[in-house]
Amino acid sequence: MAFGMLTKPVPLTREQRQAKRAARKNARVDAKFGRVKVRDNASNCAELALSKGVTSDEQIAAEHTAEVKQIRLTRAKVFRRSQFCECCGDSEQETSQKSPKAAHEMHETTPRSLTRGLPPAERFNVRICMRACAICHPLLQRRVLRIDFHNDERRMTGDYDVIDGATGHIIRHMRRGVDRRIALLSTEKYRYISEQRGA
Ligand SMILES: [Zn+2]
Repeated sequence: MAFGMLTKPVPLTREQRQAKRAARKNARVDAKFGRVKVRDNASNCAELALSKGVTSDEQIAAEHTAEVKQIRLTRAKVFRRSQFCECCGDSEQETSQKSPKAAHEMHETTPRSLTRGLPPAERFNVRICMRACAICHPLLQRRVLRIDFHNDERRMTGDYDVIDGATGHIIRHMRRGVDRRIALLSTEKYRYISEQRGA
């Protein structure tokens, strides 16, 4: 393609070059976060045109930058809140002992697909996001495990239980006022709570 140019290329304006650079950067960030690639030119992209109407490259780049910033900020806050996986209670060291490549990641308890189009602060914040080890993260994504919040306003910042998706039984529970690390329920306590809940 690059070798088959028949006409002399038109030099890009400064704005066009900036927009192209921003789009390339977005594509790299998207690849990193596993999202669909943003095309170099938004006005040529049917998907973007349909979902967002006419939007300039600069606008898309600005929105994207704001979102990346919010993700980074939330991740830092979530990782400060707990040094343990908020699903199983493992430290990073314990996780790495299970698998040398496994690290801790940020999981959104409300999937990104459901919050698309909302302001960054509503998509990524400490209420919605949690620290999850690389072992729990896919289980949460596939809903093999799920989080049951005690308070829908406080969500992850309040108390919650980790539920076995198949049986509905509580596996672990977090009591923010008592525990720094999510606790595995003893068989007795587990049975008692499950009965109380009618699970
Ligand atoms: Zn875990």
